[in-house]
Amino acid sequence: MHIHEYQAKDVLRSYGVPVPDGFAAMDADEAKAAAGKLPGPVFVVKAQIHAGGRGKGSFKELGADAGGGVRLARSADEVREHAAQMLNNTLVTVQTGPDGKQVNRLYVEAGSQIDKEFYLSLLVDRATGFTSFVVSTEGGMDIEAVAHETPEKILTLGVDPATGFMPHHGRAVAKALGLTGDLAKQAGALAGKLYTAFMARDMEMLEINPLVLTGDGELRCLDAKIGFDSNALPRHPDIAEMRDETEEDAKEIEASRHDLSYIALDGDIGCMVNGAGLAMGTMDIIKYHGGAPANFLDVGGGATAEKVAAAFKIITADPNVKGILVNIFGGIMRCDVIAEGIITAVKEVGLSVPLVVRLEGTNVAEGKKIIEESGLNVISADDLDDAAQKIVKAVGGSN
Ligand code: GDP
Ligand code: MN
Repeated sequence: MHIHEYQAKDVLRSYGVPVPDGFAAMDADEAKAAAGKLPGPVFVVKAQIHAGGRGKGSFKELGADAGGGVRLARSADEVREHAAQMLNNTLVTVQTGPDGKQVNRLYVEAGSQIDKEFYLSLLVDRATGFTSFVVSTEGGMDIEAVAHETPEKILTLGVDPATGFMPHHGRAVAKALGLTGDLAKQAGALAGKLYTAFMARDMEMLEINPLVLTGDGELRCLDAKIGFDSNALPRHPDIAEMRDETEEDAKEIEASRHDLSYIALDGDIGCMVNGAGLAMGTMDIIKYHGGAPANFLDVGGGATAEKVAAAFKIITADPNVKGILVNIFGGIMRCDVIAEGIITAVKEVGLSVPLVVRLEGTNVAEGKKIIEESGLNVISADDLDDAAQKIVKAVGGSN
């Protein structure tokens, strides 16, 4: 789960991490009032969306010259003007895709004078099982571009969970950032606080870009992005409350209500599969035959007919879906339960696209019989390869 920048800064502030003072605002008057509570003379007005690249982004309604989603202002009135321009308009950045995202919230913070911008992030390195710092002296810009063009400028430093963060990790981070003396001490302390926050709040990823050196010789986190491990959210009700559903895909929210693993993709073949591995394999083979999956969907092991029906409805409600492939390998999941779920859903919402069904395993005969007797217009398939070819053909793909 992701949260907004202003929420991430609140979390970090509570661990003593240096971040600029600021206030969230939902309308232009609130933004002006927020500026009134800050010392000035420079303020920053920041669009709060779950996507980066805001500074270099532009608003659809305003055109490229009007300014992006991170703007400096020199008075409370100017803050109000920027706020009025940004709110309810659509910010397009490299990370939002061409449709952009509507700005519903702003963050108004004290402006910083920047002498240097760094990059610092923490993430779980699944290969080593360590929590790793990723640091670079090339902050503020697109870190993917740095990784691509000058990978030697990005350093990774793992922390063994058995020892936790030690002073030498702090010194290594400082060295990687090219800092000495008091600044190295600041960097070490900051890295330790970030690590503590990361572990205590079950984060998956914490990115500070940029971490800056200010004119008064202080390190400060100017931007903050946090992703939390969703499986650990029950341990952090205060964080779960920060969820902003307007930032998420509506179909994914509906799926999570039914405890389905669902991820929307940009193809046109809807997939309903049991088991994450089989779902991945199904997506691969669709691609192999020249098609493109519209989603990843794992209905899980012990799904009920109601859950299957909910899953099927989520797929059919997607206007991009031009055909559906159901691929079930019955084990704990029974084929007749899947068949019943599909029939229930089709009775309620209809079916206007081709449906290919491949069932195998527990109660397969019963499952096939239920589908045959329903009179549904189903293209049946014998194995996965056959199923993938048939659905790609049905949606007018290359095979
Ligand atoms: P992003 O574009 O979504 O990553 O948003 P950031 O919060 O990283 O802001 C983008 C850029 O705006 C930063 O890299 C800075 O160069 C600039 N910026 C942000 N806050 C300030 C500030 O307080 N003072 C100055 N001078 N520049 C800032
Ligand atoms: Mn940034």
